[in-house]
Amino acid sequence: MSVAEALSIIAVPAFADNYLWLIVRGRMAVAVDPGDAAPIEAALAAHQLTLAAIVLTHHHRDHIGGVNALRSATPERQRIPVYGPRHDPIAAVTVALGQGDRVQLDAIELELEVLDVPGHTAGHIAYFGQTADGPVLFCGDTLFATGCGRIFEGTPTQMLASLDRLAALPPTTAIYCAHEYTLANIHFARAVEPDNLDLQAWETIAVQRRAAGQSTVPTRMGHELRTNPFLRSRSAAVRAAAERRVSGASADAVATFTAIREWKNDFRA
Ligand code: ZN
Ligand code: FE
Repeated sequence: MSVAEALSIIAVPAFADNYLWLIVRGRMAVAVDPGDAAPIEAALAAHQLTLAAIVLTHHHRDHIGGVNALRSATPERQRIPVYGPRHDPIAAVTVALGQGDRVQLDAIELELEVLDVPGHTAGHIAYFGQTADGPVLFCGDTLFATGCGRIFEGTPTQMLASLDRLAALPPTTAIYCAHEYTLANIHFARAVEPDNLDLQAWETIAVQRRAAGQSTVPTRMGHELRTNPFLRSRSAAVRAAAERRVSGASADAVATFTAIREWKNDFRA
């Protein structure tokens, strides 16, 4: 393979609002969180790609549901590695991963670094890599554009620590999250921070993109630090909003984050 061949990342829409991702170089592809096999097979066929590996962030059905069908499709496919979290229950995983592990995806000449990001699930992991176009992050259901995942299996303390770990990545990092939740997330974020000008500008852009049938993903970490209330638990505006909602919620970052996350759980625009 020529090193001149560029890396590209293809969004494969699935279900109501999922993004499955294909990381591609040349004719080789790696699937991230293939919750459904059919749209992945269609994308592989359309772009004449060979599936070389599967990468999983957590055990939920909409992220792993297509793995067995993809792997049993051909004899060659049965040999491809399935990378996934050590602490989530996923029978199909062949290479179990945790914090600090590195995944060498030789077929697409990409190395990914594993970050433990528990909270949405107990074992949720994210994958960070450097590409010629800048750093990239595959974060499943932990961080979304202008939002974060629900806390199903972990604690708010864990989830905040996970988001802090992601927030420490370079601000140029492109965030490939697993759902198109952006407009609903912006609606909530505007309730938390009505005076955030970056957020107001982002709403205009995101509404235009969705009206044109375009994706709002990926966003970049620097943008999230300015607009995502769940990365802003230490900001004066978000602390004040949390305090208005729950007395005592401005005491520390965990209390603020907990109040904001619970507010979002109940939020109906
Ligand atoms: Zn999930
Ligand atoms: Fe999901």
